[in-house]
Amino acid sequence: MTERTKKPQKRGRTETRGHLYILSAPSGAGKTTLVHMLLESDPKIHLSVSSTTRAPREGEAHGREYYFTNVEDFLERANRGEFLEWAKVHDNYYGTSKSWIDAENNAGHDVLLEIDWQGAQQVRKIFPDAVGIFILPPTIESLKERLIRRGTDAKSAIDLRIESARDEMRHVGEFDYVIINADLPRAFQEISSIINASRLQYATQRQRHADLFSALL
Ligand code: 5GP
Repeated sequence: MTERTKKPQKRGRTETRGHLYILSAPSGAGKTTLVHMLLESDPKIHLSVSSTTRAPREGEAHGREYYFTNVEDFLERANRGEFLEWAKVHDNYYGTSKSWIDAENNAGHDVLLEIDWQGAQQVRKIFPDAVGIFILPPTIESLKERLIRRGTDAKSAIDLRIESARDEMRHVGEFDYVIINADLPRAFQEISSIINASRLQYATQRQRHADLFSALL
């Protein structure tokens, strides 16, 4: 038996050169904070900046949190096939730039997509080897508290987000990993462990250390 045939290839990494991480969570689960911690600790991870028709919140900058646009422009671009995936979330459109992902993928970079379950389903079809991570809040109360404390949305928007949060969480079973964000440092450790483990997968190691594998096997 050759080294190659000893272990069946579970999810081949033939389609993406770097890793593609999909991070989803209901609003208020602490996803944005975790993403910031991750990007600061690991410069090798590149965050995809989506386009959205949502109005900017205070402190958000065009091109940093999102590319803000209007519905007409968004739908035109969607029709032209400019998005890898797109979806309507909380009454607004959100989409991931296809050309940006292609360029990052060609460069072999690790990319993080912060998208909802609808987008995750679309991306998984195109990149079946994407690593799906879902963040859950420890309780429904903590979710509500975080949404209210954030105070960036009107009351009606918060109600809509709580309803959407429940819809989002029903899709947790479609993801590879689940993090329950009861304690931020621990959740950060857990997400880092997932990323580190994915980088140690056979196909990644084989590609990264091709010379070593040739010499050893
Ligand atoms: P927010 O408006 O709070 O920034 O994001 C609302 C929701 O939209 C979150 O669940 C977020 O993950 C999702 N979202 C952000 N960008 C994208 C995107 O490009 N595609 C999809 N499908 N969802 C997105």
